[in-house]
Amino acid sequence: MPDQPVLRFAPSPNGLLHLGHAYSALFTAQWAKELGGQFRLRIEDVDITRCKPEFTEAIFEDLRWLGLTWPEPVMVQSNRFDIYSAAAEKLKRMDLIYPCFCSRAEIRQNAGGRLDPDGAPLYPGTCRHQSRSEISRRLADGEPANWRLKADELMARTGPLTFTTLGPTPHDRPQIAYARLERWGDVVIQRKDVPTSYHLSVVVDDAAEGITHVTRGRDMEAATDIHVALQFVLGLKSPIYAFHKLILDEEGHKLSKSIQSQSLRALREVGWSPERIRHELGFN
Ligand code: GLU
Repeated sequence: MPDQPVLRFAPSPNGLLHLGHAYSALFTAQWAKELGGQFRLRIEDVDITRCKPEFTEAIFEDLRWLGLTWPEPVMVQSNRFDIYSAAAEKLKRMDLIYPCFCSRAEIRQNAGGRLDPDGAPLYPGTCRHQSRSEISRRLADGEPANWRLKADELMARTGPLTFTTLGPTPHDRPQIAYARLERWGDVVIQRKDVPTSYHLSVVVDDAAEGITHVTRGRDMEAATDIHVALQFVLGLKSPIYAFHKLILDEEGHKLSKSIQSQSLRALREVGWSPERIRHELGFN
């Protein structure tokens, strides 16, 4: 029996939703409907410094206003730090992540100008070469550490990793894509400030919620390399991935949560209706 399709919209409450989020939410809801599946909402608030409860409330309100519905209770990541910690411990036991004590400035200095797909300095592997005794001492001293993936070790263990992509419609023929973890290098899997990272939490939760189709913007396509690698080593089923277009402003830039005037709330206040939003974004 094939799985019943389960899709999710998973915003981070670090600002007000804008048209780009509306597009992603409506795209996901439309795919769920076309596939005869379920549309779920998840709040991805592991970044405790940037995420705020009032933005979570605003997400519920704005999505309801748009006419979307979802099953309750909604998964909220900040309630699940124990679960992510357990997954990180598993990776530690497998010797696939290691502590890194470098500051951002040190990483920038040592990266030699090399960047990861998000445009951040590529980690040059500095802390990978510390002795076990040095690591134990620094951890015992309570020095905060980011835990990074041993990307080459993982790739050596897994061999080439692939994932399934689908689109532009849910009825197209699935395609196979290769994960290219090497372009991310030793990415952070467990952060200094919280016992997880976006990458670890999203993988754990997509599996926990039985997500069959991950629908997300094209800007997230490269991150899928990391996600399928984590799924493989954690023994989690890999969903199908669909990457949708991004909504750009008049200058061709991605919309930003920091520009309040672009928010759904601001559009609502100047008289836009949910129907107008759907129409402008090409949904009927
Ligand atoms: N929470 C992420 C964001 O708001 C997206 C989640 C995902 O699709 O994996 O950018």
